[in-house]
Amino acid sequence: MNVLQVSAEIFPLLKTGGLADVAGALPQALNAAGCEVRVLLPGFAPILADLQGAKLLTTLHAPWGEMVALRQGRLTSLGLQAYVIDVPTLYHRAGSPYADEQGQPFTDNDRRFALLGWVAARLTAGLDSAWQPRVVHSHDWHAALAGAYLAYLPPQRQRVASVYTVHNLAYQGLFAPRHFFELGLPASAFAVDGLEFHGQLSFMKAGLYYADHITTVSPTYAREIQTPEQGCGLDGLLRTRAADLSGILNGVDEAVWDPAHDAALAARYDARNPEGKKQCKAELQRLLGLSVAADAPLFGVVSRLTEQKGLHLVLGVIDELIARGGQLVVLGAGDAALQTAFAERAKAHPASVSVRIGYDEPYAHQIFGATDVTLVPSRFEPCGLTQMYGLKYGSLPLVHRVGGLADTVMDCSLENLAEGSANGFVFSEFDVPSLSRAVARAFALYDQPAQWRKVRARAMRQRLDWSQAASQYLALYQRLCH
Ligand code: ADP
Repeated sequence: MNVLQVSAEIFPLLKTGGLADVAGALPQALNAAGCEVRVLLPGFAPILADLQGAKLLTTLHAPWGEMVALRQGRLTSLGLQAYVIDVPTLYHRAGSPYADEQGQPFTDNDRRFALLGWVAARLTAGLDSAWQPRVVHSHDWHAALAGAYLAYLPPQRQRVASVYTVHNLAYQGLFAPRHFFELGLPASAFAVDGLEFHGQLSFMKAGLYYADHITTVSPTYAREIQTPEQGCGLDGLLRTRAADLSGILNGVDEAVWDPAHDAALAARYDARNPEGKKQCKAELQRLLGLSVAADAPLFGVVSRLTEQKGLHLVLGVIDELIARGGQLVVLGAGDAALQTAFAERAKAHPASVSVRIGYDEPYAHQIFGATDVTLVPSRFEPCGLTQMYGLKYGSLPLVHRVGGLADTVMDCSLENLAEGSANGFVFSEFDVPSLSRAVARAFALYDQPAQWRKVRARAMRQRLDWSQAASQYLALYQRLCH
């Protein structure tokens, strides 16, 4: 089955968060399950540079008149066939993929990302005579217009199914209404039953309204976004689409995330031979100037520093964590106030707290390899990948019971320990006392080394690869194509 995956990011070429990890891993897993996947991406410089033997498939005029070159070739680093939208004026800019160096979103983001959906729809209508998709699977608001453009194409010989995956409902791609008229969609689409959202143009709403099927990245998040608390104003629409909405839990790309083969680590290890983890911990403590103490539980955070991630709660337990003899290592970037607050704590407690502000892929691996506990106290979390990396690397996740965190982590309560299902620590109330009690449970378990090792080995053995997700997506595609 031919499947076109459409996303703004793809690991290892361009990544700002979990979306890229999924976009890089899912096509491979789907290919292994028997699909023929091609990806459609914006022509950011690292993506174009990776495109081998690229040919110019065609040039087109975007709905607003700009010339668009579409290249087709093979992404070397992923071994995947790709279509890349090459418009240097849109994609070759300083800053992040979405915002300038001051963090201000680019004012033409509607055009920059509308092209993903627009080209996807044209590919279903024969733009490439050699390959046409049966399914267009778009990811997050950047690619969300695919369903809308598909809905307004002239009738096709073969029906093409559209799937839209929400990786984070909070990022919606909202634009002033005047932008709507640049996009080449019929005026009737700018309506409550369409992509209008409280007078604005909403890419996210287009995805939710027009896609044949909506998925989110965990079953719990699929339920949560249908409530006013977590629906970001779209819960009403999501409830009307409940029959076409499901949650499919992300996996872990084991070619990238596996402590048995991870070149970034000081030593390799696995569930059967976890000795190397001690070396990873000692090496990181030494490198960071922390006390080199094998028996000090080392807590880690690898995260975007945003309100969503609940890291102000971590600031609230640092003193307690240090008083109990623990250590904390943080890698993250984002919100200036959070950056400063964490940096100050590191300055005040250099032997116990280390903070690096920035984005560093190999260092993230080293943190999962070295730490005993991975902290993910998110206020909401569609799936969350870092708790799964924590499980794989034997760094037991300590999480807030929401979204994908609730679907992947079982608390070390006495009954879960007795049943053999415990693999981490879970707190229910989103406040410092609740987190603090979970931290206390982590220390209590750490004081029983044999029990700790048992839980850790179970966490590391858990099956988290992409094959289960891939078979669920494949079953969905097959159902939609019948
Ligand atoms: P989100 O997509 O909301 O940021 P996820 O947990 O789904 O959260 O995915 C985050 C991804 O980004 C993980 O692969 C994580 O390791 C990575 N990551 C986050 N912050 C950093 C950082 N500062 N340096 C390196 N990797 C990071």
